[in-house]
Amino acid sequence: MLEEKINYKKIGLKAGLEIHLQLDTRNKLFCNCSTAIKEREPMMVIKRKQHVVQSELLETDLAAQYEFMRNRTFYYQVFPKEVCLICCDEEPPLPLNQEALEIAIQIALLLNCSLVEEIHVMRKTVIDGSTPMGFQRTMVIGKDGFIKYKGKKIPITHVSLEEDAAAIVKEENGNVTYRLNRLGVPLVEIGTGLLVNFSPKEIEEIAYLIGITCKSTGKIKKGIGAIRQDLNVSIKKDERVEIKGVQELGLLAKVIELEVKRQLALPKVEKETRAALPDGTTKYLRPLPGAARLYPETDVVPVTISKELVEKIKKELPEPWTKKLSRFKSKLKLSDDLAKQILRSDYLELFEKIVEREKVRPPVVANTFVNTLKDLEKREGVEAENLSEKHFIELFKALAKKKIVKEAIPEILKYLAKKPSDTVSNAIKELNLKPIRISELNKIVKEVITPGMSFEKAVGIVMSKVRGRIDAEVVMKVVKEAMK
Ligand SMILES: [Zn+2]
Repeated sequence: MLEEKINYKKIGLKAGLEIHLQLDTRNKLFCNCSTAIKEREPMMVIKRKQHVVQSELLETDLAAQYEFMRNRTFYYQVFPKEVCLICCDEEPPLPLNQEALEIAIQIALLLNCSLVEEIHVMRKTVIDGSTPMGFQRTMVIGKDGFIKYKGKKIPITHVSLEEDAAAIVKEENGNVTYRLNRLGVPLVEIGTGLLVNFSPKEIEEIAYLIGITCKSTGKIKKGIGAIRQDLNVSIKKDERVEIKGVQELGLLAKVIELEVKRQLALPKVEKETRAALPDGTTKYLRPLPGAARLYPETDVVPVTISKELVEKIKKELPEPWTKKLSRFKSKLKLSDDLAKQILRSDYLELFEKIVEREKVRPPVVANTFVNTLKDLEKREGVEAENLSEKHFIELFKALAKKKIVKEAIPEILKYLAKKPSDTVSNAIKELNLKPIRISELNKIVKEVITPGMSFEKAVGIVMSKVRGRIDAEVVMKVVKEAMK
């Protein structure tokens, strides 16, 4: 059955985005722990119970009460280099991480925000156990900014700097285990104003624009979970539903579409918080939290943003993504589509480094990062995270020096993902991918062709013998010539 197309204007779709990006700093926001989040073997586990407290207004936060009623016990995994006494709430925080502050200011400026004069660190109540202290430190850096999209100004309400929470490992019978190494990693939170009269796809595009703008600092962490989105969705005059933890920008449109359909099917929409699942659907999490969730952090003194610091950061602001996009198209000869995809890619920096250093055709490099890797992951189960910067640099150096043809790239990547400690030159040897000469190809073609054989069959047999060692177009040309 054909699904009826939803008229999003008519149903009055309204959405607000909150985008969280992990900053790639050396240390955490309020301690000297590493932000690598690489350690997997916990040195110990801390057990805690949490109790709900009444706020100063003498009313208990509904969401907090709900979590408390679930009466769970929390287990926190501690890792040697990535968790300290500050992370465990046993020691007061150190002063604010200057590197993280400067990146947050950069982002606020790139999003046309006005900077606050003095930063006040606040505590935000967190009662799902994802921080052992029961709160998360957060501070507003910039306010009232905008980005342009299709000629319209999209309002940015705030750019905040905050601590990431711990990542959940498992939950069984009221026992929840968290990994403390993600706790305290600097996170920038960007909030948009209410987006009205946009389709889900357009809202996703807006999120991408914000993401690309932030990534231009070169200081955003990579990989799944490094960029996470919360959003709220409402239709007509119905209640607002909050959706937490969309792990991929490319999933946003689908999540909104499915949520709209869910709300349209309900007689009455309830105010609630839902969790995003990897397939784009959502599940009920808890009632929508009340407003009184922020109170001052007295362990950290307010920080003044000096004029000198702002001037210094303004001078070093990165190339705006719009300029980068047109440069990729005009100078690097990327198609519009490929240019946009590489801008969104985690491999953007590496792409720029390679095309600057090596004499290779930029579209080939971009295509490898954007399409080849995805294909290998999807179709052949290749684990792309095993491939390092060094592998790619060696690979494109070999291509620049004509030690391989571009057709050999997928096979070499497949090999290196399985044997990450091996080198590209060894992969070329092991896989027999040394390019063949035209004279050799001519010889093979002559041996293959028999009278009456079809062109397609001849090309197929020859390709199976020379795959990855010569350009497929050259093969077709030589076979055609030989069959004349
Ligand atoms: Zn720490």
